[in-house]
Amino acid sequence: MNLTVFPRRGYVQAPTPLEPAPKLTELLGGPNIYLKRDDLLPGAGGGNKTRKLDFLMAEALDRKADSVVTCGAVQSNHCRLTAGAAAREGMECLLVLEERVPGSYKPQASGNNLLFHLLGVSSKRVVPGGSDMDVETAKSADFLRAAGKKPYVIPGGGSNPLGALGYAACAEELLQQCFFLGLRPDAVVVASGSAGTHAGLLAGFAACNARIAVHGISVNRRRAAQEDKVYSLAGKTAELMGLHNLIVRSEVIVHDDYVGPGYSLPTAGMREAVTLTARTEGVLLDPVYTGKAMAGLIDLVRKGVFRKGQDVVFLHTGGGPALYVYADEFLPVR
Ligand SMILES: *Cc1c(COP(=O)(O)O)cnc(C)c1O
Repeated sequence: MNLTVFPRRGYVQAPTPLEPAPKLTELLGGPNIYLKRDDLLPGAGGGNKTRKLDFLMAEALDRKADSVVTCGAVQSNHCRLTAGAAAREGMECLLVLEERVPGSYKPQASGNNLLFHLLGVSSKRVVPGGSDMDVETAKSADFLRAAGKKPYVIPGGGSNPLGALGYAACAEELLQQCFFLGLRPDAVVVASGSAGTHAGLLAGFAACNARIAVHGISVNRRRAAQEDKVYSLAGKTAELMGLHNLIVRSEVIVHDDYVGPGYSLPTAGMREAVTLTARTEGVLLDPVYTGKAMAGLIDLVRKGVFRKGQDVVFLHTGGGPALYVYADEFLPVR
C-alpha cells in the first residue's frame, strides 16, 4: 500500500510511542504487554480520531467546505477532536449528539461536553438513542446549506473508508516500530466501536502481508453485528487502497463479553482495568472504550488465550477527558 497518494492535513507528523508495560505484564503473569500510545496523538486532548481526521479534513478543504457536521454520543471523543480540527481550520462545527442512555445528556456536564463549548462548536442538537444518525447529520447539513454555507459531513467516529486509512497507516507505523524493537507481535487488542480503527488496522496489516490477529473488544454491539461491520468497512478501506478481496471474514475477531449493561455503562472489569493500568503503569484509560478493552485483554490473559512468551500490543485509543464524568466510579465512598 502507498498512503502517500492520499491528501492529509499533517495532524500526525511522528509515530506515537510504543511502550512496554512491564509492571502490568508481571502482575498478570501472561504475555509481554506493550502499549501503543495513540492517546498521545496531537489534537484537542488526544485519541484515535486524529488519525482519521487527518485524511477527512483534507477532503473537506479540498471540497471547499466552510463547515463540518458530525455526530456521536453525548460525551463523544470524536466530536471533541472534530471540533478541535474545525477550529484549527477556521471552519464552523455542528454536532448532533445521540442520547444513547436516556437522561445522560447534561448541558452542564464536564469532560468532552465542556470541551465542545471551549472549542467553539456553533450548535449541538441532541436526538434520542436509536435515531438514524446519517439522516440527522444530513438534516443539519441541509440547514447549513439553506443558510448559504458549504458543509462537509463526517460520519460517526469518522468511520468511513477514507477515515479508516488513518488506521491502515497506524498498522504500517506499528510494524515498523516492532521491527526496530525486535518485537514479533502475536496480537493487537483494540476497542471496537464505530469500527474504523479496527477495520483500518486489519486492512493495513493485510496490505503489508502481516496477518497479525486483531482482537476487537466491542463496546456496544453483539459479536456477529460488530464483526460484519468491521469486515465490510475493512474491505472498503482496502478497495480504496486499490486492493481487492484482501480481507477474510474468518479473520475478523470481535469479543462482546465486556460491554456489560451497555455502551458507556460501567462494569466491574472496566473499574479493575482502569485502576490497575493507572497504578502499575501510570497510564490513564477511559471508562467507555479503553477501560473495557483492557478488561478484555486482562480476561483473555486469565483465560489463557494470550500466553507467556507472546507479545501483545494494546492500542490505547485515548478517551481521557471522559474520565472526569465518572468520578463516582473511582473515588472512595464517603
Ligand atoms: C472512538 C473511540 C474508540 C473506537 O474507535 P472506532 O474507530 O469508533 O471503533 C476507541 N477509543 C476511544 C477513546 C474512542 O474515542
